[in-house]
Amino acid sequence: MKKIGTCPICYQGQLLEFEDKFQCNFMHSDQTFCNFFIYKSYSGKNLNLEIVLDLILNHETKFYSDFVNESGQKFEAALKISNGFIGFKFKNQILENCKCVNCEGEIYRSLKGFGCENFFLKRCGMFVYRSYNGVNLTDDHVKLLVSGEMTPFISNFLSNSGKYFTAKLYVNDSDFRVLFDYKIGDCPKCKFGSIMKMEKFYGCSNFLSDIKCDFIIWPSIFGYEISFLDVEIILSGDSTESKSFEWNSKSFEGCLSLDESLKLRVI
Ligand SMILES: [Zn+2]
Ligand SMILES: [Zn+2]
Ligand SMILES: [Zn+2]
Repeated sequence: MKKIGTCPICYQGQLLEFEDKFQCNFMHSDQTFCNFFIYKSYSGKNLNLEIVLDLILNHETKFYSDFVNESGQKFEAALKISNGFIGFKFKNQILENCKCVNCEGEIYRSLKGFGCENFFLKRCGMFVYRSYNGVNLTDDHVKLLVSGEMTPFISNFLSNSGKYFTAKLYVNDSDFRVLFDYKIGDCPKCKFGSIMKMEKFYGCSNFLSDIKCDFIIWPSIFGYEISFLDVEIILSGDSTESKSFEWNSKSFEGCLSLDESLKLRVI
């Protein structure tokens, strides 16, 4: 049998040529052996020696446009070794500049959403749908989510009861569900609570608890509608950028922050 090179997975065996594949011959005992193999053809494309050597030496090939899918259509792809198996890599389907936080895999676009390459091989749980509660995610949102980070505040989510709401999204690292986070920041008054948007104002999660924390930011001041981002900046102890206000038909500019008694002020 013809040897074509050292196995790129175990680095101990040699790939031997069989009728329909190249297979690693490494066997240490009945229990310990390497079962890496490369078929001689994938989706209608026969692999020549150059392609097989690319896989062995570089773990992936160049892009070729003469693969044929099950419906007989040609498609462009490269082959790559991923977790010990040969898989496809697609050009326009890869989300650039990000990797799965769980397994370092590439992130692929699919019809329904974005999944880790190993999700499609059933070896990783990372999958993010294209939209949540009526909001389509941008590529930047998806990149943050699959990297294990929280998105910025996203508005216009629609609740089951038909109300619009604003929240951040994150991926729960135990079951990979995408969840909402409503917390805007820590309460500067009681120090225990989280500040969230209540029905009529931004308030503390301890508003109704025994602590009865009454920290409040009203949603508008001098005709200016305060945004989630404004509240986030104010709670971090900083001042917002300059905003336009109006009082008694006169307009003026100023920055929002909290004063010593934790009341909102314009300076
Ligand atoms: Zn091997
Ligand atoms: Zn993954
Ligand atoms: Zn509080």
